[in-house]
Amino acid sequence: MKTEFIQRCIKGITQAIIEHENDIESLDRAIGDGDHYINLKRGCLAINSMANDFNLMPPSDVFKKIGMKLLSTIGGASGPLFASFFLELSKSLENDGDDRDGFTKGFASGVRAIMTRGKSDFGEKTMLDVLIPISELLNNRVDGDIFDVATQIDRKANEAMLATKDLLPTKGRSAGLGDRALGHIDPGAKSCQVIISAVCQEILKGKK
Ligand code: ADP
Ligand code: MG
Repeated sequence: MKTEFIQRCIKGITQAIIEHENDIESLDRAIGDGDHYINLKRGCLAINSMANDFNLMPPSDVFKKIGMKLLSTIGGASGPLFASFFLELSKSLENDGDDRDGFTKGFASGVRAIMTRGKSDFGEKTMLDVLIPISELLNNRVDGDIFDVATQIDRKANEAMLATKDLLPTKGRSAGLGDRALGHIDPGAKSCQVIISAVCQEILKGKK
């Protein structure tokens, strides 16, 4: 992974989040408190304004800066969870290297950090219902063609996000709603899908 690619992803993700304002905001209004979009937008804009300072940094340092900034800007339940993902990814890249194999391990470590911090697991109607299947796919296809893998990840993230509709929430703010949350997609699962899809689009641009 190259820092220049991360910088392009930051721009792509920010644009994608802003384009999905209505989806993300209305989902958190339905089963949360309506602040998820504004939390994420604040985090994205803060990272964007730092992106030029990343020029000469290795990816592990870039992800550390991102994690620290997200911790102080996003807030809500999701801020510390996104932050722990990037801080753990950073540590893992430092130890395992930042090639594809290292990134795959780092992604898995980041997802485990969210599970630990959130005391949560797959099937609880959270962002993890997208992140865990993507981590598994990355791991299973670590040697696969990068463009095929990006296409598969984009598709899988969309399926996994949609599947949260039928899950009963057991963690976070929506847990108190019980059955009333059925039929609604989890806002954090939606934002993770939007972010992952934006990264996949950046990868696929290299094919054209
Ligand atoms: P808040 O719930 O404090 O308003 P946000 O609206 O920013 O925070 O984020 C809500 C999202 O955070 C949820 O949709 C869910 O995906 C995720 N989330 C909340 N609690 C947890 C948890 N314990 N583990 C994993 N993800 C969680
Ligand atoms: Mg909220």
